[in-house]
Amino acid sequence: MAEKRTEISDLGEFGLIEHLKRGVNVKQSSTLLGIGDDAAVLAAGDHVKVVTTDMLLEGVHFDLAYAPLHHLGFKAVAVNVSDVAAMNAIPKQITVSLALSNRFSVEAVDALYAGVSVACEHYGVDLIGGDTTASRSGLVISITAIGEGQKETLAYRSGAKVNDIICATGDLGAALVGLQILEREKQVYLANPNMKPQLDKYPYVTRRQLKPDARMDIIHEFKEIGLVPTSMIDISDGLASELFHLCKASEVGVTIYEDKLPIDKETYDTALELGLDPITCVLNGGEDYELLFTIAPKDYPKLEKHPDVHFIGHVTKAEEGKFLVTKSGTAVELKAQGWKHF
Ligand code: ADP
Ligand code: MG
Repeated sequence: MAEKRTEISDLGEFGLIEHLKRGVNVKQSSTLLGIGDDAAVLAAGDHVKVVTTDMLLEGVHFDLAYAPLHHLGFKAVAVNVSDVAAMNAIPKQITVSLALSNRFSVEAVDALYAGVSVACEHYGVDLIGGDTTASRSGLVISITAIGEGQKETLAYRSGAKVNDIICATGDLGAALVGLQILEREKQVYLANPNMKPQLDKYPYVTRRQLKPDARMDIIHEFKEIGLVPTSMIDISDGLASELFHLCKASEVGVTIYEDKLPIDKETYDTALELGLDPITCVLNGGEDYELLFTIAPKDYPKLEKHPDVHFIGHVTKAEEGKFLVTKSGTAVELKAQGWKHF
């Protein structure tokens, strides 16, 4: 009899992680939290360490036709710092592992590392090691970030409570729109190499795609104002997908409001120019690296006047489901069409 074969695409990225998690047993008493949140949590004396890792692959996550190497180096650090931020922790160290093909020169690796160094300076982290190997295909960058926090003030995906207020930082959808512009200009260039890419009109969305910044500023502010979110996740796969993760981990439902969703004007206008629905970009665009979190209603005054935190909805009971209330007042069920590579 033929052996059973299950396609990875049948499970999807999140289904596969769930599947792998089932075979994993945690035995060390210092492993406070394993697979399932933005970072693992380890006991470390009077505080806790958080550990997270993310890999970027040429041809899957970036295209060197338009991603400058120094921006790529910065981004590879930022996406890991973003997961540390999502735990309400402070990043301290990173390791950087590279797979390089002979297409790359020392100068190219220097450019990549210049971006890594700028990010280390920006986030206050030390580069403490890594690994270097040859690659037969493209460039692979894998970074692990280690952060520190206090056990009592970490924020998990699982802490949202009914009636909590749902908050999102910054604005959403820009990185996806930026990617579409970069892809469009690449195709124009490939069709006619005499044509110069027209990117000047889209400075914000292209920067958000090429050089995202993790929201450590918000985490430092939480500390200053004495606020601990009841739950938190970073927005790497799209708002809708992250809301699904929060709902699943916290066993709750959510209602969000279309007119509260934050979108930048350049993102909005460019989405329309590309024939995309701006709200779909906000809900399902990937790589925003903003923070999605919930706060107890009593904490609302602490953030009420914050210029970069948006109150997009509230937490409901699980059986009430996940809904988006449109501008016309209709409630439509949310779908998590995250940014899936499978
Ligand atoms: P994020 O988008 O925040 O980086 P992921 O969706 O990549 O999170 O991962 C979710 C959880 O699954 C994390 O705890 C991560 O460490 C874990 N995880 C992802 N891939 C694997 C794997 N291959 N083996 C074990 N754990 C994994
Ligand atoms: Mg994350």
